[in-house]
Amino acid sequence: MRCGAGIEARQVNELFINIDPIQAGGRLTADAMKAVIAYGDGYSVCDNCRKPNRLDYINKPPIADFHKDVAKWLNMDDVRTVPGARRGFQAVAQTYVGKGDPVLLTSLSHYTEFLAIEEAGGCVREIPANENRMITPEATAVKIEEVKRECKKDPVLAFIDHVDYQYGNMHDVKAITKVARQYDIPVVYNGAYTVGILPVDGKDIGADFVVGSGHKSMAAPAPSGILAVTSERSGEVFRTTAIEGDVTKRKFGIKEPEMMGCTLMGATLVGMMASFPQVKERVKHFDRELENNRIVLEALLSISGTKILSQYPRKHTLTRMDTVASFDKVAETHKKRGYYFSNALEEKGIVGIIPGATKVWKFNTYGLTTKQAQYLAEAFIAIASENGLFSQ
Ligand SMILES: *Cc1c(COP(=O)(O)O)cnc(C)c1O
Repeated sequence: MRCGAGIEARQVNELFINIDPIQAGGRLTADAMKAVIAYGDGYSVCDNCRKPNRLDYINKPPIADFHKDVAKWLNMDDVRTVPGARRGFQAVAQTYVGKGDPVLLTSLSHYTEFLAIEEAGGCVREIPANENRMITPEATAVKIEEVKRECKKDPVLAFIDHVDYQYGNMHDVKAITKVARQYDIPVVYNGAYTVGILPVDGKDIGADFVVGSGHKSMAAPAPSGILAVTSERSGEVFRTTAIEGDVTKRKFGIKEPEMMGCTLMGATLVGMMASFPQVKERVKHFDRELENNRIVLEALLSISGTKILSQYPRKHTLTRMDTVASFDKVAETHKKRGYYFSNALEEKGIVGIIPGATKVWKFNTYGLTTKQAQYLAEAFIAIASENGLFSQ
């Protein structure tokens, strides 16, 4: 099947078990697919935009209610939709970070947090992870004291990833936030791998901002995401425009500069909304996802030399493996070198691991059925067996 212009229809999730770490939580629901078709046209959500003209006030489709529901669901006060988690970081950074201001990230932070701070003119100070690849409240306090000494300024923000993208480790964001708050540093909770995957309670964590990614974790089209804030921060990051034209004296009322007025105007927003009822339900069943993950990991660990680099037992389905002493041994002499591994998986209908990687690689079992998890487990065992890893 072709879409025209040389574009082939993508049939990855239809034909394969896809364990790509970044794609698992973003796969569309059937309702989101319908929404994409119905609201694909430009500015299609604007049909019923009435005064006051702003995206989050539109009632048909129920965009205004969606904003309220998401705020309540995350136990925060105010929400806006944004084109990706990164645009949420950017809005917060542009509001609070001035030239040369130090901002706390961690040694496991995502690059988009770095770029948001760079754009705002700030400088990054990373809280180092410990030997277990965990960010601790103790290390946070040490780093804040170091920044105060060296920069002669307190950090103006702290971005903390609840689950990091490198290991899928779950950090004690509540305890880390408590430390930051003792220094009056506002905290951005990065929920790119959690909002839409497991329950998130912003007030309980103590976060000033909760950022989520629609296309990574809320079964929504890209680029989409949410920025949720406390009422204390709402007037700051969602301040309204004050600019005026010198000739026309025009002003722009309740439009918000950090949102550039309105954000998601069609398939992205309505797709995220259409998936939301199922997303709200699925976060209550994360235990099943961990159980499926365990099935696969136990199979991998039965292959001698195979190590899990992520915290174990797992608290998230995104997992980093070290197979230097197992699958990589085969690559040394295999005629396809490292590609034998991803090729063998693909032959068994499994995609999503970086082609050629046999040393360190990541995968995500999120969204698999138990049957698919068992199949995946058996596939890893079979590839190990076919390549002599059990006969040594
Ligand atoms: C994927 C990811 C992001 C970026 O999310 P977008 O919605 O694509 O902007 C940010 N932080 C972490 C930890 C991520 O894993």
